[in-house]
Amino acid sequence: MVNTTPYIGRFAPSPSGPLHFGSLIAALGSFLRARSLGGKWLVRIEDIDPPREIAGASSAILKTLEAYGLEWDESVLYQSQRLDVYQARIEQLLQDNQAYYCQCTRKQIQAMGGSYDGRCGQLLQPLNQGAIRVRNPFAVEHFVDQHMGHVSVDSAFAAEDFIIKRSDGLYAYQLAVVLDDIFQQITEVVRGCDLLEPTCRQESLYQILKAPTPQWLHLPLACAEKGRKLSKQNHAPAIDNLYPQASINAALVFLGQQPVTAESQVSKMIEQAVSQFDLSKVPKQSEILLDT
Ligand code: GLU
Repeated sequence: MVNTTPYIGRFAPSPSGPLHFGSLIAALGSFLRARSLGGKWLVRIEDIDPPREIAGASSAILKTLEAYGLEWDESVLYQSQRLDVYQARIEQLLQDNQAYYCQCTRKQIQAMGGSYDGRCGQLLQPLNQGAIRVRNPFAVEHFVDQHMGHVSVDSAFAAEDFIIKRSDGLYAYQLAVVLDDIFQQITEVVRGCDLLEPTCRQESLYQILKAPTPQWLHLPLACAEKGRKLSKQNHAPAIDNLYPQASINAALVFLGQQPVTAESQVSKMIEQAVSQFDLSKVPKQSEILLDT
């Protein structure tokens, strides 16, 4: 049977700083994948953690995407505009006894062996404040990644009832990302391998919410050293809005693709990169160290 579902991909940066080479890989990789399949590419700003947000970062990210010829479809979705939706869903989960309040401290969880054992979900008198955890009967431990193949995570991590709303009142990434990927009808999530493990939690959440799961495709992560992804703090190569050509080609080479003619306009470079994009050439490694 021919699959007729239109492809919808996305790039979902957190505005914790401007785009750097590491985040450009996720932006460009997800864009090339979507466009090479004739699909849509959406941008969502994940601005639900004000303490980690840098003023002006959202607009700086969007300006960089424009300068790099990464034109998105539809209007940008801001998670900060969706807090009511997250809250309504949490209230529903609480009402249906699929979520519960928890006041356990980090120290107590350490004493449980590092994984939360679900004790606040067993109380005869349920708590009515604290963090909110979802009951996780599915405990998804494995998934198939379109690029990395079969992925497994630690079973205790997979089985944990994880936090969907923090005790400080902020909504957890896991909840917001899943509700928004459902809302935006994302068919495939393309992002860096730093999010391989949380994918199992997201799979569990799709099952709890009875929603169809998108496909997953994780790209190698640009690292400054083993286990440390590039960040502003560890010398991520700067990317230049006035001369994007060099970074576009560096990102293409990182993704195992042929560089494109750098003298031409950025839009032409991107067009060429889309037409020659070949997923099978992307290295099957979760991290690639950069010489910085
Ligand atoms: N907002 C997350 C980040 O910037 C990415 C979320 C995702 O792609 O699922 O790390």
